[in-house]
Amino acid sequence: MLEFRRSLPAYKERDTLLNSISQNQVVVVSGETGCGKTTQLPQCILESEIEAAQGAVCSIVCTQPRRISAMAVSERVAAERGENLGESVGYKVRLEGMKGKDTRLLFCTTGILLRRLLVDRSLKGVTHVIVDEIHERGMNEDFLLIVLKDLLPRRPELRLILMSATLNAELFSSYFDGAPMIHIPGFTYPVRSQYLENILEMTGYRLTPYNQVDNYGQEKMWKMQKQALRKRKSQIASAVEDVIEAADFGEYSPRTRESLSCWNPDSIGFNLIEHVLCHIIRKERPGAVLVFMTGWDDINSLKDQLQGHPLLGDPSRVLLLACHGSMASSEQRLIFDKPGDGVRKIVLATNMAETSITIDDVVFVVDCGKAKETSYDALNNTPCLLPSWISKASARQRRGRAGRVKPGECYHLYPRCVYDAFADYQLPELLRTPLQSLCLQIKSLKLGSISEFLSRALQPPEPLSVQNAIEYLKIIGALDENENLTVLGHNLSMLPVEPKLGKMLLLGSIFNCLDPIMTVVAGLSVRDPFLMPLDKKDLAESAKAQFSARDYSDHLALVRAYDGWREAEGQKSGYEYCWRNFLSAQTLKAIDSLRKQFFYLLKDTGLVDNNIETCNTWSHDGHLVRAIICAGLFPGICSVVNKEKSISLKTMEDGQVLLYSNSVNAQALKIPHPWLVFNEKVKVNSVFLRDSTAVSDSVVLLFGGNISRGGLDGHLKMLGGYLEFFMKPALADTYLRLKKELEELVQK
Ligand code: ADP
Ligand code: MG
Repeated sequence: MLEFRRSLPAYKERDTLLNSISQNQVVVVSGETGCGKTTQLPQCILESEIEAAQGAVCSIVCTQPRRISAMAVSERVAAERGENLGESVGYKVRLEGMKGKDTRLLFCTTGILLRRLLVDRSLKGVTHVIVDEIHERGMNEDFLLIVLKDLLPRRPELRLILMSATLNAELFSSYFDGAPMIHIPGFTYPVRSQYLENILEMTGYRLTPYNQVDNYGQEKMWKMQKQALRKRKSQIASAVEDVIEAADFGEYSPRTRESLSCWNPDSIGFNLIEHVLCHIIRKERPGAVLVFMTGWDDINSLKDQLQGHPLLGDPSRVLLLACHGSMASSEQRLIFDKPGDGVRKIVLATNMAETSITIDDVVFVVDCGKAKETSYDALNNTPCLLPSWISKASARQRRGRAGRVKPGECYHLYPRCVYDAFADYQLPELLRTPLQSLCLQIKSLKLGSISEFLSRALQPPEPLSVQNAIEYLKIIGALDENENLTVLGHNLSMLPVEPKLGKMLLLGSIFNCLDPIMTVVAGLSVRDPFLMPLDKKDLAESAKAQFSARDYSDHLALVRAYDGWREAEGQKSGYEYCWRNFLSAQTLKAIDSLRKQFFYLLKDTGLVDNNIETCNTWSHDGHLVRAIICAGLFPGICSVVNKEKSISLKTMEDGQVLLYSNSVNAQALKIPHPWLVFNEKVKVNSVFLRDSTAVSDSVVLLFGGNISRGGLDGHLKMLGGYLEFFMKPALADTYLRLKKELEELVQK
């Protein structure tokens, strides 16, 4: 291992780096991915501190954008030092960690460091902060940089090291008043790019519009696609037009031409990937294959498909692995292993494998050209979770992964002209996500006005997005009219979940119905455990419907499914139960462990006591649980009007909205409640609600919104606005009566 360490380019730059750190407060380091920045540089600093007899007093914190890299890297560094994890090297991620009293080098997520700043504003005792992967421009990293920039003058002995893979080091250096830049020269072998047109030519594959599985699992008619494409005015669309035109004008061989004209830009053809993988195994030299996919669900469906393939599913020839943020650490380690002779390693990965994790033996990269990122439509206040095209920088990065050990090959599953239309860099996250949690943190860190603070960011977000977030926090009662943190807001900022989920946890504790609420919140923060395989959609839907039991609630269906699984687990038949009910055992396990963590967290904050029974006195009261779900999800609310053959749903912002087909309410012929509260709406052509719970008028009156805002009167006025908007005269009467009664009560 020591030999391996010494061979890494970053290790060789050790003295330059240490010199620069001793003379400057801020240093920006850049270098090719895999050159050893993350594993070597923090370690070198630790070693030099020990050599200078400062080992006992130094405290080095290195942040990572993802939990999984913080864990993987700390494990690796501890191993390189011949120690167990938790001795001098440790890690800490959300609700989990391994560190001891002697830990001097701590790898943590950026969120953890921000949380620490909440209670310890000058980072007492910390000697070095290393912010890794800053080129990714995640929201937390951008936020951290503003805070650190303010902190540096107050802590002149603190050292800040920024590390980045790609070469926009100048941006960061100028943000920190011209901090010195160190570039670690790296070496990668040349990688040849094959774009779609060559791939079709080379492999003889023909795209057909009908056998492609697109991202929403629906097969759309190619004709409609083509028409829609011609309408779309983006650069990509015109590049797509080029493809179609080039195909029409015969720039390619007849077969490629015919096939290219079928290219469907909205789909990642699983069959095409399968075909390319077979081509590599049969025709190409040895070497591992890395396939970039858009997300966890895509990876899983592709893995399922490949496992059923006679060649790719044969374990004596292919070692098929997945690599994404939520996999288990045992699975993680397999990625670095070398497979036996004659076995081809194929890793299906998200864009995490672009920079944070380096698999050394990769010779072939298959790049689908897309990544799932949350973009944010500030005008409609709606997050869009669509796979979108990556940037040129990402595509280059993906390609570079193939040249670590010998010359490589990269298969881009899109035509060259589409690559040319990619943006140069990806937009920073701060500019494309809702900012609610961030605004809460700014307030609880007492950093002054939210707008003023954010205007000092590397690239400040749109004032409209900031206003939306502030307004949301006021509506849910986390901020008062003057943008000051309320008691609720203060409590929410201590919980590591979204404000609305935190609000549910708090109310669940206060109202003593913690158990079901913890399940709902864990489910909403992990992912949906209900599986919807395309070929068995009907069966899966009816399995889910059984859990709904006329509750008209996806959230309560989840609670039932989870409770049933716990019981089945007790009888050792958990897997069978999942199989029968189309549930993901892995997701349920994740929910289970998150629930435990929530419980400890709430106990820590003193909100619940040790006695699990008192916390659950009212857990079986479905009305109460529903009300608390409403309290958390409001103002995510739409009105329900039952028509003869359909149900019409409307929100205040979007007008007509639709339900995702896997919601239990999508199957209902009639919903006997006037409202649905929902967690998430997503824009895909129309606005879709992902999961929903039906609630009554009185629940909305009493639990929707926030009593503290402008007092009771303000609360009722706001609700009145909703009621008027949805034109419910009968309800308006009730509302007026209730208002009067409540006012009298307040007077008294
Ligand atoms: P950088 O941060 O510059 O991208 P890293 O420090 O992450 O580079 O990685 C340096 C080298 O160490 C790479 O060759 C990588 O493959 C190897 N490496 C990192 N983590 C592990 C691990 N857990 N197991 C085996 N090799 C690893
Ligand atoms: Mg790294």
